[in-house]
Amino acid sequence: MPKINRRHFLKAAALTGASAVSTRLLHADGLRSSSKGPIGKPIAISSSNGTRALERVMEMILQGSDSLDAVISGVNIVEDDPNDTSVGYGGLPNEDGVVELDAAVMHGPSYRAGAVAALRNIKNPSKVARLVMERSDHVLIVGEGALKFARAHGFKEENLLTDESREAWLQWKENLSNQDDWLPPHSLEDTDIGQLYQKYLRHYGTIHCSALDMNGNLSCTTTTSGLAYKISGRVGDSGIIGAGLYCDNEVGSAGSTGRGEANLLNCSSVMIVEWMRQGKSPEEACLLACKRVNERCREKRLQDEEGRFKFDIKFYAINKRGEHGSASIWSGGQYLIHDGTQVQTLDCSYLFKHK
Ligand code: ASP
Repeated sequence: MPKINRRHFLKAAALTGASAVSTRLLHADGLRSSSKGPIGKPIAISSSNGTRALERVMEMILQGSDSLDAVISGVNIVEDDPNDTSVGYGGLPNEDGVVELDAAVMHGPSYRAGAVAALRNIKNPSKVARLVMERSDHVLIVGEGALKFARAHGFKEENLLTDESREAWLQWKENLSNQDDWLPPHSLEDTDIGQLYQKYLRHYGTIHCSALDMNGNLSCTTTTSGLAYKISGRVGDSGIIGAGLYCDNEVGSAGSTGRGEANLLNCSSVMIVEWMRQGKSPEEACLLACKRVNERCREKRLQDEEGRFKFDIKFYAINKRGEHGSASIWSGGQYLIHDGTQVQTLDCSYLFKHK
């Protein structure tokens, strides 16, 4: 049993009020009593675009694979899929029409992580992130350097832009402004063109996947093409350890999808893991992260008329006991879990209900 040290106690007391502390620390002791989770009771969680990924993750885990091998292999399916326009090949490009990918991986048992950001021409950034972890003395490599690193490891470069994502980008560009020279298709009768921006709202999308394997070890990965039509070189939360994902083999694993800028300002994944360490359930911890994003926002342009954060972020978490949970700022979100029998779609908890 680990000793409760004074620093932990004071920190927890400051966060929660002394009366709640003793229960929470008892809880936390339960989570920390072993560096492994329940042996032979695996679980995997992902964002709602991960059905096929979770099937592969669990198939591998049930055959005895390590959780990191499984989550990376699972998300590779989505990275390879041209029809998922938020991840890997076919991802929506930046404002210049170039696909730039962010991804990170974290391995619970070895407590190591690797990441790449603004990586061009390589469709499986999660694999490159793993190599950053295993074959470099760094944690994060970006842009041209990440591409050179991938080339050095034999990755093949390819054009990641599909016709569908190029056309979506072109429509966005043509409708962005009526003060530039890019025109959307229009007729001679149209009096107002270039005002259709709302119709081409930039969307978010990503896959996060965390898993607990048969040996009770946790790992996670998040991989994305990021915010569609972003400024070239923009890095979101997905490739940032602590923001877009985090895992601690003694506690749990967490990750996010949605508006990366807000998450970068709050480092929510590491916070979710810390809240679980203090005894919060995965769902409670994800909700706390949503609350914090909402409460910390000071910019009116990001708030609705009632002062609520306008955008959405979803958080996903599992703990060492195999419990899971997810929360989003706005109602209507879903997440997936695989408990070894089948993929289930579940509703995320939320802070605010859409009208
Ligand atoms: N979080 C990702 C980013 O900000 C995008 C997303 O999840 O939709 O890059």
